[in-house]
Amino acid sequence: MATIGVLALQGDFAEHLAALKKLGVQPREVRLPGELDGLDGLIIPGGESTSMARLMDIYGLREPLKERVRSGMTVWGTCAGMILLATKLTEDRPEPLGLMNIEVQRNGYGRQVDSFEADLPVPVLQTKTAFHAVFIRAPKVLSVGKNVTVLASLSQKGEVVAAQQDGMLATSFHPELTEDTRFHQYFLKMVGVH
Ligand code: GLN
Repeated sequence: MATIGVLALQGDFAEHLAALKKLGVQPREVRLPGELDGLDGLIIPGGESTSMARLMDIYGLREPLKERVRSGMTVWGTCAGMILLATKLTEDRPEPLGLMNIEVQRNGYGRQVDSFEADLPVPVLQTKTAFHAVFIRAPKVLSVGKNVTVLASLSQKGEVVAAQQDGMLATSFHPELTEDTRFHQYFLKMVGVH
């Protein structure tokens, strides 16, 4: 049985824990470096990327987390989590983990559309039903590297909102805030659980 963790420093980790439990997984809350030991997958939740990065540094999690991902732990970042996974941000803060080859602008959809929802076709979910995605002060993906696969885009301007690079998944929206667990199932499939 695989062990799945949720980074529980800040943000909406409780909703991720609940979604995983709904799928029959007993997740581990991760706050300390030792809690990364033996994890097969880790979710970095939505929240405030600057606070999360600061707490990650205070708890000494940054390097061990990077090391675990580099040695094969599957990881998924939602919203603030996506910001933290990026190699490049348009602003100086926070310092991201620099793991996934995407360039991201925090709060990239601006004040007018601070929060919005969209129905996204997501072929990798292997169902025809669109995924109802909730965006809250969402990051905008400005560019993706060659080795990154786009999983979903917004229909109007085509902005990338879900992407994958090997064992790394990033979504600029919050599947944990809806009842739809298909993205969590997809992540578990990446880990090799289902
Ligand atoms: N705007 C937040 C940040 O910059 C992310 C918002 C979210 O996770 N819902 O960290």
